[in-house]
Amino acid sequence: MTDLDPATAAAADFYDQHYACCKPLFLEPGMRCTLGSPDRPKHCRFCGLSEPEVQFKTDAHALPAAFGRIGLFSNYECDACNSYFGKGIENDLGNWTKPMRTLMRIKGRSGVPTIKEPGGGKGWRVEYSTGAFQLSEYEGDPHFTIDEQAKQLRFELHRDPYIPVAALKGLVKIGLTLLPEVELAHFSETFDWIRNPDHSQSFVAEFPIIRTFISGPMPNDKVTLMLLRRRSGVTTVPYAFYVIGLGNEVLQVFIPSLSQDQCINGQPLSLVPFPTPGSFDAKAYGRPRVNTIDLTGRETVRGEKVPATFGFDGIVQPEADSNAGGAGQ
Ligand SMILES: [Zn+2]
Repeated sequence: MTDLDPATAAAADFYDQHYACCKPLFLEPGMRCTLGSPDRPKHCRFCGLSEPEVQFKTDAHALPAAFGRIGLFSNYECDACNSYFGKGIENDLGNWTKPMRTLMRIKGRSGVPTIKEPGGGKGWRVEYSTGAFQLSEYEGDPHFTIDEQAKQLRFELHRDPYIPVAALKGLVKIGLTLLPEVELAHFSETFDWIRNPDHSQSFVAEFPIIRTFISGPMPNDKVTLMLLRRRSGVTTVPYAFYVIGLGNEVLQVFIPSLSQDQCINGQPLSLVPFPTPGSFDAKAYGRPRVNTIDLTGRETVRGEKVPATFGFDGIVQPEADSNAGGAGQ
């Protein structure tokens, strides 16, 4: 690890002064970690009901399948809420994250997601199998642009339909799952909001997701989660957020609290992004890139395109007369 650059050190200082971090979770394949007490009767923090009124037979994933096969569960989500979120906001979150999971080779229940040209029939296809990406396109319908000199391959993926604010609720739900019991009272309206199937209801005025992209080879099977809460006496920053690091991406997601965030009401949100360690080799891959994502849209988004650029070591043309090529990262 190299020394922190001044901007990263300043950001680390800012967060240290304004926030306290709960114990971070470092999750790896094969681990199983369950949040909350297993004591009976269990209580669901999402609907407020307890056993025996509601049941807790199914494993409730604290991180939905949208983030890969991660063994993080909770004892405080009942079967009915688990099913309700799984069919609703977690499905939108899954569709929103799918291109990212394909590009970063994040394995879900059925492997790394394959993305095909929408509309069925013959078209382009991006698939990861046997340790390399398999890219297919058909004559007369080119989809991939190869820059041999730069050793770059450029193309677009498409997203399955999703409602942005539903995906946002899915992200906030992860934060609500991470909260310790003592904090829950500050978030009662936030629980109501994520449970509300009417996505037209507005909640908070400003709701950016801060995304940091770290180029270069990064582990694609480990997840880091950090929950941060404002230090007492501080009134200039949002009350709580969490950071999730997965593959090349780090997302910083606010967990709004109507009561605790009153002090920043009406003020433009200006926060330095949460510092990330950056790439293993900053010289080769550059500094992390930061952008903000607005997921407050209430209408279903269809056919959204996601541009992608791969660096590659080599391309293998298949021997048969198909048009598929393979590109190793
Ligand atoms: Zn419930």
